[in-house]
Amino acid sequence: MRHLIIGYSVAAISAIKSIREFDKASEIVVLTDETSVYSRPLISYFLAGQVMKNKLSFIPKDFEEEMKITVRWNTAAKKIDSKKKTVLTADNEIIKYDRLLICTGGVPIKLPIDGYFEDISGIFTFVKLGEVEKLIKYIEKNKIKECVILGAGLIGMKAAEGLLARKIKIRIVEMADRLLANTFDKTASALLEEKLKESGSEFLKETTIKKIISKAKKLEALELSSGKTIKTRLLIMAVGVRPNIELCKGTGVAVNRGIVVNTKMETNIPGVYAAGDVAEGREFLSGENAVIAIWPVAARQGGVAGANMAGKITEYDGMFPMNSVTILGVPSISFGLTNPKTADYQILLSSEGGRYKKIVIKEDRIVGVVLVNAIERAGIFGLLIKQKLDVSALKKQLLLDDFGFLVLPRDFRKHFVTGEGTEV
Ligand SMILES: Cc1cc2nc3c(=O)[nH]c(=O)nc-3n(C[C@H](O)[C@H](O)[C@H](O)COP(=O)(O)OP(=O)(O)OC[C@H]3O[C@@H](n4cnc5c(N)ncnc54)[C@H](O)[C@@H]3O)c2cc1C
Repeated sequence: MRHLIIGYSVAAISAIKSIREFDKASEIVVLTDETSVYSRPLISYFLAGQVMKNKLSFIPKDFEEEMKITVRWNTAAKKIDSKKKTVLTADNEIIKYDRLLICTGGVPIKLPIDGYFEDISGIFTFVKLGEVEKLIKYIEKNKIKECVILGAGLIGMKAAEGLLARKIKIRIVEMADRLLANTFDKTASALLEEKLKESGSEFLKETTIKKIISKAKKLEALELSSGKTIKTRLLIMAVGVRPNIELCKGTGVAVNRGIVVNTKMETNIPGVYAAGDVAEGREFLSGENAVIAIWPVAARQGGVAGANMAGKITEYDGMFPMNSVTILGVPSISFGLTNPKTADYQILLSSEGGRYKKIVIKEDRIVGVVLVNAIERAGIFGLLIKQKLDVSALKKQLLLDDFGFLVLPRDFRKHFVTGEGTEV
């Protein structure tokens, strides 16, 4: 039996651990187009010079030996033949598999802006370590002191942190009317905007880049849809990632936005699995399939895929979006659906002394939470969402600073803590 895994990051590593838990003997071969394992959330600290390259890995040094796996570094998978059960590598080698796991993650979106060409120097994305290494070289060689970031989502804000730590002045250009628009509302965003201003940076909202101006393949300026032109030699394109589904073309593997999987993380082709940022698995709150491109989802999905590949039937019960990030020294946590578009949600809000809490409730169940500068007791909200507990009796307490496990009535606590001898 050979398990073949494409991609070697969060989902793959979880899958490998899980396969080995139930299957000590089968062969595991991993193909990766990169040269090391590293944590993507840490690349902004690498850019900042706060974390060295040798500290970016999140697996022990002897992981490959311990797990008895063969890793083929710098070896991209080029084509899958799901009928013959083979994968063709970029060096034209054909590798057979019995079970295949696709965890190729996401690829940065590159907008087709007028004047944009891949070979213009000074334009970077912010997803892969290799790209960040090139960015650092570019900054140092050209003595960059200012830059523009297109996109104020999580990746754009992470890039902003790294650049600010290098004393580079930033201008963020964003289509929406706020930072982190997928999760934050205007009040939450204002807390970050203040910090940005303090750092001498600028936030240009409700506009985008209309034209990229370059000379001799060097970035010179950007024309915005607002009519403004900004001179700059560095642009970070941080407008999101999309599932890296290229390999599925012509294979019969069903693809929507990401690779569609069932609750065993198996695709429509038996024996072919997908997990992580590339997969479209169950979203807990809606019960529909969705791509949730975050670390904990990749880890859980990889674990479930690995168990099923090893023959241990395991179900993925779905997860909801969650993010815990500290940006510009402002800690924030968000869970679930935070900006509902319809009126059938109740919103509880508290905003005092720079601390912001927002709780989104539907049919007496919490479905979303945003906490900014007030994250001390965040965990309990995640649990309340997961347990789908009726909070109608607790609404007055939910926003209080001392709201936590201990203020919950006994009946509620029972749902969280169980086990012999546990007093709830
Ligand atoms: C800057 C940044 C900050 C982030 N911060 C957070 C955070 O704070 N919290 C959080 O929860 N999440 C965060 N994320 C998201 C998180 O890193 C991802 O959800 C997670 O890495 C997904 O893991 P994965 O295994 O699915 O894919 P990835 O980590 O994307 O790995 C996929 C791997 O597959 C390889 N690959 C692709 N195609 C092929 C091929 N054809 N052949 C061989 N190999 C291939 C890729 O090179 C890559 O190494 C962040 C992401 C970025 C970019």
